[in-house]
Amino acid sequence: MSETIFHKIMRREIPADVVYEDEHLIAFRDIAPQAPVHVLFVPKVDFATLNDVPDADAVVVGRLATAAARYAKAQGFAEDGYRVVMNCNGDGGQTVFQIHLHLLAGAPLGRFGTP
Ligand code: 5GP
Repeated sequence: MSETIFHKIMRREIPADVVYEDEHLIAFRDIAPQAPVHVLFVPKVDFATLNDVPDADAVVVGRLATAAARYAKAQGFAEDGYRVVMNCNGDGGQTVFQIHLHLLAGAPLGRFGTP
């Protein structure tokens, strides 16, 4: 997998607003937020897209979701609600080819899909 901007953020070579980190993943605010809360959860093992994650590594994806839920509870918006999204390849709108999960919250988000 090629180097991405998220590797540089993990190595603190470029700044980011990191809200959570452990041995498995890092979470930081999106530079172009699409909601009042927009945090990216990125695992510390590399997969370019969701297509590249084998069943044996399903826990890598699962940890992103449970970390997002923990963050939502800790920040007090879990009950109001939130959305988690993983974009995959062109039609999914993926722009950074290192898997990550978007957490969007802080306002009613409306529907999603094709315009
Ligand atoms: P994707 O489009 O691949 O699903 O999501 C990539 C996300 O990374 C986008 O929402 C984009 O705004 C965010 N992003 C791209 N470059 C940077 C950066 O340098 N810093 C931060 N914090 N987010 C970034």
